[in-house]
Amino acid sequence: MDPFDNINNDHASLPRNMIENSMFEEEPDVVDLAKDSAAFPAFPALEPEEVVYEPRSSRLLVRGLGEAELDDEEEDYESSARLLGMSFMNRSSALRPSSSPYTRQALPRSCSRPSGRTMVVCVFILVLLVSISMVLYLLPGCTFTKAGCHKSNSSTPMELVFPKATNGKLFPWTERRLPASVRPLNYDLSLTPNLTTMTFTGHVVITMAIQHDTKRIVLHSATLNITKATFKLGGAEAMQVEVLEYPAWQQIAVSFPEALRAGQTCELSLGFSSSLSHAYDGLYNSSYTDQSGARRVLAATQFEPLAARKAFPCFDEPSFKATFLIRVIREPGYISLSNMPKSKTSLLSGGLQEDEFERSMNMSSYLVAVIVADFTCVSRNVSNTLVSVYSVPDKKEQTHFALDTASSLLLFYNSFFDINYPLKKLDLVAIPDFLAGAMENWGLITFRETSLLVRNQSSPLDKQLVASVIAHELAHQWFGNLVTMRWWNDLWLNEGFATYMQYLSLDRQLPQLDAGNVFLKVRLEAMAKDALNSSHPVSTQVTSPEQVEEMFDSVSYEKGASILLMLNASMPDGQFRKGIIQYLSRFSGSNTVTDDLWNSLTQAQVPAPSESVSAMMNTWTLQKGFPLVTATLQGRNLTFTQEHFLLSADNNTQTSSLWHIPITYVSDNCSSAPSCSNMFMLKNKTATVELPSSALWVKLNYRNTGFYMVHYGDQGWAHLTDALNTNISTLTDQDRASLIHNIFALSRLGRVTFRQVLSLMSYVINETETAPVLEGLSQLRTVYHLLDKRQEQGLASRMKGYILEVFRPAMDGQGWGEEVSVSRQEQRSALLEAACALGLQNCTQQALLLFNQYSAPNSTTRIPGDLQGVVYRAGAQTDAGWDFLLQAYGHASDAAEKRRLLRALASTQDARRIVWVLRAGLLGQDIQTQELPLVVSAVSDGFAGHLFAWDFVQQNWDQLLEKFPVGSYAIQSIIKSTTSQFSTQAHLEQVQAFFSSLKQKGSQMRSVLEATETIRLNQRWVDRILPTLQRWL
Ligand SMILES: [Zn+2]
Repeated sequence: MDPFDNINNDHASLPRNMIENSMFEEEPDVVDLAKDSAAFPAFPALEPEEVVYEPRSSRLLVRGLGEAELDDEEEDYESSARLLGMSFMNRSSALRPSSSPYTRQALPRSCSRPSGRTMVVCVFILVLLVSISMVLYLLPGCTFTKAGCHKSNSSTPMELVFPKATNGKLFPWTERRLPASVRPLNYDLSLTPNLTTMTFTGHVVITMAIQHDTKRIVLHSATLNITKATFKLGGAEAMQVEVLEYPAWQQIAVSFPEALRAGQTCELSLGFSSSLSHAYDGLYNSSYTDQSGARRVLAATQFEPLAARKAFPCFDEPSFKATFLIRVIREPGYISLSNMPKSKTSLLSGGLQEDEFERSMNMSSYLVAVIVADFTCVSRNVSNTLVSVYSVPDKKEQTHFALDTASSLLLFYNSFFDINYPLKKLDLVAIPDFLAGAMENWGLITFRETSLLVRNQSSPLDKQLVASVIAHELAHQWFGNLVTMRWWNDLWLNEGFATYMQYLSLDRQLPQLDAGNVFLKVRLEAMAKDALNSSHPVSTQVTSPEQVEEMFDSVSYEKGASILLMLNASMPDGQFRKGIIQYLSRFSGSNTVTDDLWNSLTQAQVPAPSESVSAMMNTWTLQKGFPLVTATLQGRNLTFTQEHFLLSADNNTQTSSLWHIPITYVSDNCSSAPSCSNMFMLKNKTATVELPSSALWVKLNYRNTGFYMVHYGDQGWAHLTDALNTNISTLTDQDRASLIHNIFALSRLGRVTFRQVLSLMSYVINETETAPVLEGLSQLRTVYHLLDKRQEQGLASRMKGYILEVFRPAMDGQGWGEEVSVSRQEQRSALLEAACALGLQNCTQQALLLFNQYSAPNSTTRIPGDLQGVVYRAGAQTDAGWDFLLQAYGHASDAAEKRRLLRALASTQDARRIVWVLRAGLLGQDIQTQELPLVVSAVSDGFAGHLFAWDFVQQNWDQLLEKFPVGSYAIQSIIKSTTSQFSTQAHLEQVQAFFSSLKQKGSQMRSVLEATETIRLNQRWVDRILPTLQRWL
């Protein structure tokens, strides 16, 4: 899925692809969790992932011994005491080489000068104490019943107590994850959405195989009213059964007096009904207004990650793959679509029609999709697959670019993966109301209109976005659909890969779209979140729905993609692809864990690599964060030293993490051509290499293909600054962008002074390439925004002057006519947007002039796509202009333009209008609710708006959660937009107080930790750089 809704796609300062987020626009900061982890005051700061509730362990811990009714799969577990020990060991050893907070420090504390015997006793007591405390700690998993979780009795240490079902009987299962004793084989699913009453009914027959003897079948169901249930074992007669429901965990169950035996097959048949969802998941209703002004309705699905259970009862975990035979009953005025081609349509009584679709391949429930709508399509046959692009009828002419692109990329992937796309059809559907960017449902990919529809004359930047999203979703048809992660902890296997493949495929297949700058930007931005203590490993334990939702973040997507790029760049040519082909063919149709990928990549290499791919990559996927490499040059000796690049508000948070880093480096002897780059694998804390000849300076991380930051020491930075001032092309444009990015980050870390930062930036006056211009502009504007929002008006104004001075030549060099180069468009829109926002007179005058031409009566003036943002925003600052834009927004049929109009409306500095825009986004009448994250982000950019936006979030939190799930990308984005520019103690306290008051409604989200970390780090950074700014600006 692309959960990100390209909030900043039209944000002229930072054109990015959809997978981009505004999340990282402002650099985060550091926060120090040590202060927040008061629960274990005696130990070093716990990392968040170390304190998550682990259901697996808890099951082991609490389960009573000798319970007759447990399933086989549970019975091979060992005694509680041993398990306690194991669980304890597992936690402390898991890939944190020597960072276990428990083992290292706890022992000496209790036994200061231990003899051997005392040691044994102490260890025993310690284990016992830890065991008891862990049991107590893990018991909260007992949302089970008021009756308590587990009570002790004399014969068993603990007895399992089941939660109560809605009918008061015991619900026979005590975990969030489903038991493995039963596997679904096939679903015969029939759905009847009623687009008049906005309800639906359904019927499902699930054929299952019993894997282990069991007396229960447990599956997922949420917000469904189960109306009928029968069960059939093997060839026996069907019998009515009672369905037990446990809504807290979205589970239902059927209990049996006699055990079902391993090897048997059975059928559970369920009738159900519900309302079409008003949010954006499950089977939901959506509507749009056609050209004649009539309101049209439709029903669509969005299941990933946990919402298939809202449309039909199912085993809603990715590893329970099954086949699906789907029927949809609809009125004749609509069409229906599902994953597979339609096999027949039958006429039913009452004039309804039933479409039946071919039985699917084995697939996970989150990939099932159904649409009932009045859409039309364009189609083409591409190597035995019928590719179609669907839209509302009025927008059919905007579908051709998507059809061309999808066809071209399908051919590319068929060949690159060496496995043909396995279905006979591939539909891409633009849905008028859709929260995510797109969703890769097998054979029926759904998109927001902005992510799929463009006109012929649309700007190349809009086309780049559409192509990126299509490339991402098509890659999923292999990575995700054909081979699926076993559980959401490895979501990155889907998302990191699809993100990487989207850039790789565009680079190979559609180079004219020039996606390289976007990928670089995305990699640099991913470091912002990952530098925080609240970040998480790429592959990380998740259990609760909120945790699963929160996996859809930049770590899974962009960091995942970045480390794949780094791996590919460090392997001999062609080996990466070979390993991928091997992985896909070996695991086709099944589920995998991260190690399966590494093993395939290791095995594919000839000759065998000196170390396995897992040995290297585990250091990148199993620990959070990334390294800072310090390079010290003495004569010909180049020494590398690595440490964790951890932004921390008090500098006390240390980790001993080490990475296996494929360091690349160039020197002043040879610095820009690919052949100049050397590689060294740094596995230890420090190592020295000898250069062939002595050098004045070195630059590491050639073209920034590695996911690490570099510090060159005072002298090194000075030499690099001189080198760029002497000859700008001594380094590639990606290298220049990465230097700018790294030095700002080092300033946040306190390793360089802001004076050194400004000194490096002095070369930028000669910069003409897009990547470094975008990076420099974005970094300086972040500083400006922090000063502005902190009401340091004098300094903010001087910073404004400084930015205009550094970028003045570049800004003045921009024209206002049509521009065809994507890269030039990216640069132009960023520069002009900044110039106008900072009040450069030339810019505002020209923008207003264009706006006036555009808004004149009967005008046919068309503003080039990449300039619309800046022109509309200029217009939005007057009463008449804003009103005109609001009208235009109501009529616009081009989705990308519509978003730019909305962003302009939200950029107003008029307080009443700000409040109106925010309210309208929430109400969903004048502005679609799917756009609310965009609205909040745009409003927050403005000086007046950012405080209104924060108030709005606090006042409307409950309503926000009705629209967007806790932890979802939309919520992450809203929190980030409204809090990341705060840098004062008062705001920190306000934010902390608000989120801690939320309790179950979001206080536990990782984004909350991120928000408070970021404010503290902003506070520290701004405090530190203020004196320099006062002296220098
Ligand atoms: Zn995706």
